[in-house]
Amino acid sequence: MSLRKLSYEYYERAKRVLPGGVNSPVRSARAVGTHPLFIREAKGAWIWDEDGNRYIDYVCSWGPLILGHSHPKVVEAIKEAAERGTSYGIPCKLEVEMAEQVVKMVPSIEVVRFVNSGTEAVMSAIRLARAVTGRKKIIKFDGCYHGHVDALLVKAGSGVATFGMPASAGVPEEVVAQTIVLPYNDLEAVRSAMELHGKEIAAIIVEPVAGNMGVVPPVDGFLRGLRELCEAQGALLIFDEVITGFRLTQGGAQQYYGVYPDITCLGKIIGGGLPVGAYGASVEIMAHVAPDGQMYQAGTLSGNPLAMAAGLTTLRILEVEGIYEELNEKAAYLERGLKEVAENRGVTITVQRVGSMGCGFFTDRSVKNFDEVKTCNTEAYGVFFRAMLDKGVYLAPSQFEAFFVSYAHTMEDLDKTIEAAHYALKKVLESGY
Ligand SMILES: *Cc1c(COP(=O)(O)O)cnc(C)c1O
Repeated sequence: MSLRKLSYEYYERAKRVLPGGVNSPVRSARAVGTHPLFIREAKGAWIWDEDGNRYIDYVCSWGPLILGHSHPKVVEAIKEAAERGTSYGIPCKLEVEMAEQVVKMVPSIEVVRFVNSGTEAVMSAIRLARAVTGRKKIIKFDGCYHGHVDALLVKAGSGVATFGMPASAGVPEEVVAQTIVLPYNDLEAVRSAMELHGKEIAAIIVEPVAGNMGVVPPVDGFLRGLRELCEAQGALLIFDEVITGFRLTQGGAQQYYGVYPDITCLGKIIGGGLPVGAYGASVEIMAHVAPDGQMYQAGTLSGNPLAMAAGLTTLRILEVEGIYEELNEKAAYLERGLKEVAENRGVTITVQRVGSMGCGFFTDRSVKNFDEVKTCNTEAYGVFFRAMLDKGVYLAPSQFEAFFVSYAHTMEDLDKTIEAAHYALKKVLESGY
């Protein structure tokens, strides 16, 4: 503990004035049997805690920092914008440029509305789907997380999964009564539900690569099957690309898999490290949004120049030739390294990865849905997490979260990480895994 003495002290203070000492539950690191770090500074792939310890960071603010922390061009853009005012509540040029950029990059988006978080994006997308179809029911998948939207806080991933909560207190039954939860990757279950409720279903919402129960890729034909079932029943398909947008390719998972949703939710990377979310769709669908249409949604700070400048700068950098190839190569190198180390140590783990997002599951099988994810040994993950921390590597403080490789991670960082894993897996074995 003494190594992280100041973090511990801040945590003790924080617990008196913040629920659980944090502003977002998984950060508490309770699930991995320790206290959170308090970060003083971050640059590139590294974070420094208040005690001055340096860590290679694979959380990257839970995905947004695909270019690494405080990228010089992004910092410059924020500074420049701040000099001219942080928010006007009146339109500005940057909003137009940012919207044009998103429309250019994301195949199924013709018109986009900016909000301030992924949660807001999803909440608005659900309202929009209901407004367009005049229907109420929503299909979601077990283990997918869509922000803390009331109607979707059932069998959710991320913190809800980490703390083993079936649902959230404070969400009325009537609200979730319109939500149907099905197993991820189970097209048959969706088919049956659509046969039963077809004309009542406003939308199917899905993480095209599940990234909030560890990383679970869609099986062949799953996304395409959802697309077809939606069309057959007049329901809308919503891709929650808050993680996958601008992560897998410039155009997100829809471009990666060649399956196009009706509505796309964006967040995380789109803000370049500042709070931004967005939802977008065709001209026809977005015509329902106020002031053009009857679906109301608004935001005091939406489209503020600081957030737009950070996002726009990030997205423009992501258009540089070869960026995604390099990201994927680095992540593949890390995956190979982890697999080799596990094999050498004789530890059975399953590493699943799509592009630069991945997860090491403490289980001996590949996992396709949340029931299978739940078979993972979370105790072992805790041991692994703490040992990696001791070796200067910061992973997500939960088995049910992804690791993210950023453009700022160097080969040296990756080698150090693999070396640390060699040590950490020894600790896992010693713990009786
Ligand atoms: C993070 C996340 C959200 C919520 O975004 P916030 O900005 O935290 O509100 C929604 N959907 C997915 C898939 C996410 O990963």
